[in-house]
Formats: sequence, C-alpha cells, structure tokens
Amino acid sequence: METNLTKRIKQLEKELAKTKSHLEIFYELTKAMRKTLHLEEISYIILTGLTSHQGLRYNRAALFFVNNKNKQLEGFMGIGPMDGKEAEEIWQHISAEKKDLYTLIENYHLIKKNKQNQPSFMKFIQSLRFPLAKNKGLITESLKGETLWVKKGNKQLKNDSLVKKLDLDEFIIAPLKIKGEIAAILVVDNYITKKEISKENFKIFEMFSEQAAGALENSYSFELTLTKAHTDSLTGLWNYGYFQYKLDEELAKAKSTKQTLSVLMIDIDDFKKYNDSFGHVQGDKALKKIGDILKINCRKIDIVCRYGGEEFSLILPANNKKESRLLAERIRKSIAKNNILNYKFTISVGVANFPKDSHKKKELIEKADRALYQAKKNGKNCTVSC
Ligand code: GH3
Ligand code: MG
Ligand code: MG
Repeated sequence: METNLTKRIKQLEKELAKTKSHLEIFYELTKAMRKTLHLEEISYIILTGLTSHQGLRYNRAALFFVNNKNKQLEGFMGIGPMDGKEAEEIWQHISAEKKDLYTLIENYHLIKKNKQNQPSFMKFIQSLRFPLAKNKGLITESLKGETLWVKKGNKQLKNDSLVKKLDLDEFIIAPLKIKGEIAAILVVDNYITKKEISKENFKIFEMFSEQAAGALENSYSFELTLTKAHTDSLTGLWNYGYFQYKLDEELAKAKSTKQTLSVLMIDIDDFKKYNDSFGHVQGDKALKKIGDILKINCRKIDIVCRYGGEEFSLILPANNKKESRLLAERIRKSIAKNNILNYKFTISVGVANFPKDSHKKKELIEKADRALYQAKKNGKNCTVSC
C-alpha cells in the first residue's frame, strides 16, 4: 500500500516537473516573440521553440505560407537536419556549446546576415511550392482548420505530395489562422530519432501553435502596414523612402559580408513627349507597365524602386560592375523591344558599384546619376557605367 502511494507521488512529481518545464518554455517563447514584430524573426523563434532541446524537442519543424495570389502553399522556413549525418553534427555542436534557447534564437541574426549560406533544410523548405488548386491531399485537408496528427506507417498517405517531399512518417500538421483565415501551415516530426509523439506532446503542440498564430498575426499586420507605407501607389514598386532605407541596410550588409552591390538609375527617354501626345492618364499607365518590365527582368533579391516622376532606382545586392551592366542592358533591351501600349519606349541607365565607385551611399547615388546624365548625352537608349 505504502509503496503504491510512494510510486503515485513520484509519478505526480514527475508530471508536475514536466508541466512546470513546459510552462517555463511557454513563458520564455512568448517573451521572445513579443520582442519583435518581424515576420522572419518571429517564425524563427517559433521553429526554434519547436525543435530546441529546451523547447518541444521535435527533430524538424517547417513553416509554410498560403499565397492566395499564386494559389500555392510556399515553404517559408525550416529548422532541422537534412539527414542523419547532419543531425549528429548539429546536435553535437549544440550540446558541446551548451546552447540555451536564447542563444539559439539569437542565431537568427547570423543566419539572416549570411543568406547565401543557409542550412540545407532551410534552403530545401524555401524551395518547396505546392499548387493549391491541384492538391487534394493532406494540405487541402489541413486547410480545413483541424490540427492533424498522422501516426506511423499510414499507407493511405504514402503518395501524398507533402508526405513524399518531406519523407514524413509520424508527424503533426497544424493550420495557423491569421485574421480569421488560414494563412500558414506548421509541420513537425521526429525524422531522425523516430521518437513517438505522445498524447501530451500533441496537446502542448496544439497550445503552442495557437500562440504562434497570435504572434504571426501581430507581425503580419505590422509588415503589411510597413509595406503599404513603402510602396509607390501608382507602380506598386518600392518608393523613394524605402530605396534610401534599404540602400543603407544593403550597403552595411555588403560591407560586413565583403560582397559587392550596385545601384542603377533609370530614366525614361522623352517621356514628356509621350505625355504631351497621349495625356497624363495614359502616361501613368505606361509608367506602371515599364515598372512591371523592370521587375520581371530582376532577381528576387533585387530592390526595384520608383525614385520619383519617371525615374527608377534599383539596388542589386551581390552584383559586381560587369554583372550589373549586363542586367542593365537586359532591362534596356527588353523595354526597347516591347510594344508598351502600342508605343516604343526607350530608357537610359546609369550604373555605380560598391566598392569600386564609392563606399558611401550618397556618393553612389550621385555617381549613378552622373552616369545616367552621360547616357542621355550619348544619345539616350544606352547604359553608362561611371
Ligand atoms: P529625357 O529623355 O531627357 O529624360 O526627356 P524627358 O522628356 O523624359 O524629360 P524628363 O526626364 O525631365 O521627364 C520628365 C517628364 O516626365 C515630365 C512629366 O511630363 C513626366 N512625368 C513625371 N512624373 C510623371 C507621372 O507621375 N505621370 C506621368 N504621366 N508623367 C510624369
Ligand atoms: Mg526624368
Ligand atoms: Mg526622362
């Protein structure tokens, strides 16, 4: 009798300790999430909470966002090892350095700085796209709003696109509601250790994912307001203010990672003539179309802005002078060969490069502007590097 009671007390003590530790994790993570409103950073905190040793200890966690415009689910961020070998390296590294939750969260800034050198699982997740129209499987099911816990060896799901891509066996998939709509999906599993997910772990995961959705909602609204304030309403490109802010940031990044960066200044040739002939409303439409062509010809990391009037400015991170000239020429030729609103527009382009032409933001802009002026003097429809 006595021993049974002692056993029961021990059991309860164990459960209490577990609950206490989960509450502590919750507290720490909520505190960390409240410190920032940036979507990327919040996502990183969420995934760290799910995977770290002090957190919920899943081997892998991945976050996907629904892109309503492209009608697809897009991989946004993933934390975890790509395979067993990498798992051992990561976990040895973490236990050797005794990294706590805060240190792991702080790692975000290192990863952000070093975008070219992301961990393989992160790159893999970011490369994933699932078309929502065609997808009739698990993703569609999850988007209905229920958190699903799929147990080991589910044969019905073996051909599911998400299961196949991530090589999932036992896992949890949770939809995250933002402003009343399911905007994201969270997936966790124990890919390497194959440790079974317990009922208790599932419950904690559900609670955690609700917290995560709340934090994402706040950050989503914040980023949306920020994006609106920085967007040019006519062309949908970034505006002058954002160009200035971003050039400071990209320049600092290029200096710290010892990479190059270029600035392009673009001016439409004889635009006044077009306005005089076809009116300002038509001129506005042309500006929008030209902005679209600039964007189509750039990489995802390039920052395309409307500098003002019929002038555009581009920031090209990690681009040397030769590459930037090539891109400028590609854009120029693309505009010249396109029939935009049944009219043949041309542009002139000036190029300046960090570190070749200057180390200072103001001077880089001035030099690109001077090169543009030279392009106009050379007869327009051409590119000049300073
Ligand atoms: P250049 O080849 O030397 O650049 O000749 P340009 O006629 O293009 O001269 P400039 O670059 O000085 O062009 C400014 C003209 O662009 C004046 C104005 O008619 C037109 N413009 C500027 N902003 C807007 C705008 O928001 N909408 C419209 N429709 N036109 C604009
Ligand atoms: Mg102009
Ligand atoms: Mg002009």
